[in-house]
Amino acid sequence: MTTRLYTHPIYLEHLTTPGHPERPDRLRAIERALDDEAFEMLDRVEAPMGDERTILYAHPEGFVENVRRQVPVEGFARIDGDTTLSPKSWQAALTAIGAANAAVDDVFAGNAANVFVASRPPGHHAEKTTAMGFCLFNNAAIAARHAQRDHGAERVAIVDWDVHHGNGTQDIFWDDPTVLYCSTHQMPLFPGTGAKSETGVGNIVNAPLAPDTGSDHFREAFRSRVLPALDRFAPDLIIISAGFDAHHRDPLAEINLTEADFDWATGQLMDSAARHSSNRLVSLLEGGYDLHGLAFSVAAHVSRLMKG
Ligand SMILES: [Zn+2]
Repeated sequence: MTTRLYTHPIYLEHLTTPGHPERPDRLRAIERALDDEAFEMLDRVEAPMGDERTILYAHPEGFVENVRRQVPVEGFARIDGDTTLSPKSWQAALTAIGAANAAVDDVFAGNAANVFVASRPPGHHAEKTTAMGFCLFNNAAIAARHAQRDHGAERVAIVDWDVHHGNGTQDIFWDDPTVLYCSTHQMPLFPGTGAKSETGVGNIVNAPLAPDTGSDHFREAFRSRVLPALDRFAPDLIIISAGFDAHHRDPLAEINLTEADFDWATGQLMDSAARHSSNRLVSLLEGGYDLHGLAFSVAAHVSRLMKG
């Protein structure tokens, strides 16, 4: 068994306004990075279209229909100052959900050792009833619910190392003790949530990092907060909200990680998955806006996943 990679050309057709950081070139940079003989053994699979009904696992129908109605025939439709829709955004979003759900299917069926999904749009800022922060639907939350509803998982952990707090994921699982949400993120920074004091029903673990900190603080947050929480929770599946915008090159934040930190954190979560979830680990791309930083970081992350 090896690591599976899901991606799809439709992800390049979710267009954002000129100069927007969340752009199709991000996926082209990842594709180039993984087009190297070091990744020859990656099991590359075209992402399937998602089942629309699974969006309702995390979002109410009225909200879903409202997003669908706003998709433009041409040009752009604006959801907010950061978040836009283009004509192919619905298909891209549904295929991002399809890949996340398929990744869950794979790790429960034993089709792959673990899975990385390189998709757009990202998901972790999407709250139950609000699309925001470049995100339309919450891919990680839908995938977690899919694991519970369709694979009998009792407890799912979502670990989010994107530099921004995943307010959407926290919102969706705020009062749900069956899903653990752990996040390291810069604070203060968009979206403004993610204080240590936000703990849900004991299932939310926020580890904010001060601007201009780096590897030491990040690893300490993992060692002292995230990994012990995973050990207490003993999840049946770990989902990573894998944003790479805490990389020192990233233009949207001031945390100074390197690809070595993503390699390390990946290894820690793989060890945790080995202890608790029969190695079931699914990683979903979130942010990461410097194309070189993103490419180096994804390469380190996927190499580590492939080491099994
Ligand atoms: Zn981010």
